[in-house]
Amino acid sequence: MSRIGVVGAGYVGLVTGVCLATMGHEVTIRDIDPRKIAALADGSVPIHEPGLEELIAEHRERLTFTLSLERLLERSGIIFVAVDTPPTYSGDADLSRVMGFVDELAATGVDPRHLLAMKSTVPVGTGERVRSELAARGLGVGYCSNPEFLKEGVAIADFLRPDRVVIGEFDPADGDRLAAVYEPLGAPVVRTSVPTAEMIKYASNAFLATKISFINEIANVCEEVGADVATVAQGMGLDQRIGTSFLRPGIGFGGSCFPKDVSALKQLAGNSGYHFQLLTAVIEVNELQKRRVVGKLKKHLGELDGKRVALLGLAFKPGTDDMREASSLVLAARLIAEGAIVTAHDPVAMDAARERLRGVELAGSAGEALEGADAAVLVTEWPEYLALDWAAAGATMARPVVIDGRNALDGAAMRAAGFDYEAIGRT
Ligand code: NAD
Repeated sequence: MSRIGVVGAGYVGLVTGVCLATMGHEVTIRDIDPRKIAALADGSVPIHEPGLEELIAEHRERLTFTLSLERLLERSGIIFVAVDTPPTYSGDADLSRVMGFVDELAATGVDPRHLLAMKSTVPVGTGERVRSELAARGLGVGYCSNPEFLKEGVAIADFLRPDRVVIGEFDPADGDRLAAVYEPLGAPVVRTSVPTAEMIKYASNAFLATKISFINEIANVCEEVGADVATVAQGMGLDQRIGTSFLRPGIGFGGSCFPKDVSALKQLAGNSGYHFQLLTAVIEVNELQKRRVVGKLKKHLGELDGKRVALLGLAFKPGTDDMREASSLVLAARLIAEGAIVTAHDPVAMDAARERLRGVELAGSAGEALEGADAAVLVTEWPEYLALDWAAAGATMARPVVIDGRNALDGAAMRAAGFDYEAIGRT
């Protein structure tokens, strides 16, 4: 077993580090956020990811959390880099955290036994840039691109049972060293050049986002022509060339990956002189999809000025407290702009909501959010909302209007319970 370092204790870094500890490695995780490191050293987990807290407790003796880069370097051979790469105003990936880390490395000094494995999603060309920056400062260090494909909410299972591992290498010996870490997982490994590995990540996310925008447009047409998108998706998905996954319409994709990665790929193409038309449409469809809910609400309530609208679910999907680019943010802002009074609830994202949502009343429970509401929108399909006693909750609402933004509730049961129920692309 080896000594491994992880840079960044976020959704990817923490899961990576903790899963590697479960595989028997001695793992040192470094972050620059003192609150995160203090919380982790105290045994609490700064993010919501099912199963993570238990695994940290179980493998505590193989995990070290630190603010110190020197300590990380001293204790590690392979170093997984999982710092954030948020979007810039131009839609490109912001590489300031990645390059900031490179500057820190240059100041601290790495040596040839270190191997950087880049897990952050970075545009094609970043590996080459990092390598030449380090070389220019006389630092000989290995580098591999090792994009991560885990999904928040099921991140541990995704890390330990990946569909594939992608390793982009400048030097096959570095690729061998990294591949050995993943070997016990038994997953297919794609070994390739660094630029190709970087592109695999963007192309994968862009394709999944395209599938979502595609089915959302099919749903919108279904509404016009009286077809049922759920059955359309089922009928399409049974074709093995298409597959059933990512054919669930809703009120748009959000989260910390799809929106920024689609945009970054579009910009990457544009900066290289190619106009990626399809992705322009994928992004536009997604933006419009979030706003269509406002039209649905108006159909039932008329003008929204002074109307109370309850949003159930704020995280970008169930199983996480992550609200980055969540559809709830756009929807809340649109509703407030229409003069609506917005109340909202989420089982785990209330702290994130307090930071990000302005002008929204945050309720202590779903029932509280629904009380007196003229309409409810199911924004995130948390199991507890699906299991809600809707008939009882409906009795406390001013009007029994429910827009199911995730096609997750039982429409027939909702109508039988007296709701004006509307979903996406369903008659
Ligand atoms: P995150 O914001 O949750 O975590 C990043 C962490 O890096 C933060 O805690 C930050 O303080 C820390 N950091 C920044 N600079 C640092 C430095 N110099 N040294 C140590 N720590 C530093 O981000 P995330 O969601 O974990 O995403 C990380 C990367 O992985 C991104 O590029 C993202 O696109 C990619 N990715 C994310 C997911 C996902 O589901 N979240 C999935 C696959 C890939």
